[in-house]
Amino acid sequence: MPHTALVTGGNRGIGLEVCRRLAEEGLDVILTARDPVLGQRAARSLAGHGLKVRFEPLDVAREGAAEALAARLRDAGERVEVLVNNAAVYPAGGVLDAPPGAFTEAVAANFLGPLWTCRAFVPGMLRAGYGRVVNVSSGAGAFSDGLPGPAAYALTKAALNALTLKLAAEVRGDVKVNAVCPGWVRTRMGGRGAPRGVEAGADTVVWLATLPGDGPSGGFFRDREAIEW
Ligand code: NAP
Repeated sequence: MPHTALVTGGNRGIGLEVCRRLAEEGLDVILTARDPVLGQRAARSLAGHGLKVRFEPLDVAREGAAEALAARLRDAGERVEVLVNNAAVYPAGGVLDAPPGAFTEAVAANFLGPLWTCRAFVPGMLRAGYGRVVNVSSGAGAFSDGLPGPAAYALTKAALNALTLKLAAEVRGDVKVNAVCPGWVRTRMGGRGAPRGVEAGADTVVWLATLPGDGPSGGFFRDREAIEW
C-alpha cells in the first residue's frame, strides 16, 4: 500500500513542489493550507495531472487544529506515515526593533506549528513502526553560522532544530526525524533574486521524506549532505 504524506503550507512555494514530487514518487499526498480556497486550488492543480493529492485545511499556528485533523483522519481509517513541516513565516526585524507580533506569529507558525503536528501524527507512526518527519528549517537557525537573518525567524528555526534533535531521540522503530535547509529559493519568502528554483529547494526534503530504513535520523541536511547545527 502506498504511504500517505501530509505537507503543511502546501499551497505555494517549496511546499507545493514537495507535494508534487511526493505524489510523483507514488505517495498519497494530503496537501494542507490555512486558506481553503488557495489550498483547494493547489491540490486540484496537481490532481488534474493525475497525481493523488487532496486538500485538508490546517492552520498550523492554531492550537488543537493538527490534533483535530489527526483524529478526523484516524476515524476515517487513514494513516499518515510522512509528515513534512514546511509552513513558516518570515517577519522582519531584530531582537530589539521587530514588533512584538513578529515573535508571537513566528513562534506560533515556525515552532509551535511543527510541535503540534508532531504531537498529532508521530504517535500513529510509532504505533505503525514506520514514519518520516521532515522539518523544513533554514541556515538561519544554525548556531554554527551565527543565526543569520531576521530575529524572529532565526530564533524559531533554531528552536525547530532543537525540536528535531529532541524528538529524534524520543522515537523508536523505523521512525526518522530530520531537519533540512532548502537553500535560498525563489519563492514569496526567498524573493525573485534567489539562485534556486523550487525543484532544487524540494529535493532534499523529498529525499528525507522517503529515506530507506538504514537512512539517517536526528540530522540537519542541505543538498543531501549533513550540515552543522
Ligand atoms: P513561501 O512561499 O512564503 O510559503 C510559505 C507557506 O507557509 C505558504 O503556503 C503559507 O501559506 C504557509 N504558512 C504560513 N503560516 C502558516 C500557518 N499558520 N498555517 C499554515 N500554513 C502557513 O515560503 P517558501 O520559501 O516556500 O518556504 C517553505 C519553507 O522553506 C519554510 O519553512 C521556509 O522557512 C523554508 N526556507 C525557505 C527558504 C527560501 O529561500 N525560500 C530558505 C530557507 C528555508 P499562505 O499562502 O496562507 O501564506
